[in-house]
Amino acid sequence: MGRFPRPGDGLPPVISSIPTKRKVVFLTIDDGWEQDPGFVAQVRDQRIPVAAFVTRDAVEARGTADPTAQGGRFLGAGKWRYVRDLRDAGATIENHTLTHPNLPALGYAGQKTEICGTSKLIRRHTGTAPTLFRPPFGNHNTLTRRAAKACGIDALLLWTATVQPGGKIAYQVPDKKLRPGDILLLHFRPNLARDFRILVAKIKRRGFELGNLDAYLKAAAR
Ligand SMILES: [Zn+2]
Repeated sequence: MGRFPRPGDGLPPVISSIPTKRKVVFLTIDDGWEQDPGFVAQVRDQRIPVAAFVTRDAVEARGTADPTAQGGRFLGAGKWRYVRDLRDAGATIENHTLTHPNLPALGYAGQKTEICGTSKLIRRHTGTAPTLFRPPFGNHNTLTRRAAKACGIDALLLWTATVQPGGKIAYQVPDKKLRPGDILLLHFRPNLARDFRILVAKIKRRGFELGNLDAYLKAAAR
């Protein structure tokens, strides 16, 4: 297990992969618009470790749904009950803002409202405050890290590759290979349960395990 370089400024680090030599990758799922109970059953029955980064407006189906989530059968179907079900199935629930803004366009107070407000809601609805924060679109600045720290966040979590509809992995590196410690990003979209099944089978075929992000981060921070 590797260690994270501690930022010299004392603010939460920005992490986009986990330092490890083991063939392990990490699954993260964002927003929370499409709330398919079939996905919760998969996570529970197959004991697949996932971290869900939830946005209030997606969970509560407020306003206009993200275009990628439209047409789903389960848009906002269970609201926070769905998030609790996912937590009960073994997922970790993390912070992805209230309204999914481009944070660097906001000042410190605005960013803090987005991050602290979400942590409070997650704590109220699940009993546990999140320790990880994912900035929408991956966009952040120093004020984001300051605000995250003030809201009790330990690290900002980005990603290595995104998973497209159909379970296809879109890599940010040119050789299109999974690497130890990769963090994969999915979304709560229509057909998530099907895409997830395809993805998990693909990862296992390539000889990788699925890791528990929380456990690895705690070990790396020691
Ligand atoms: Zn998002």
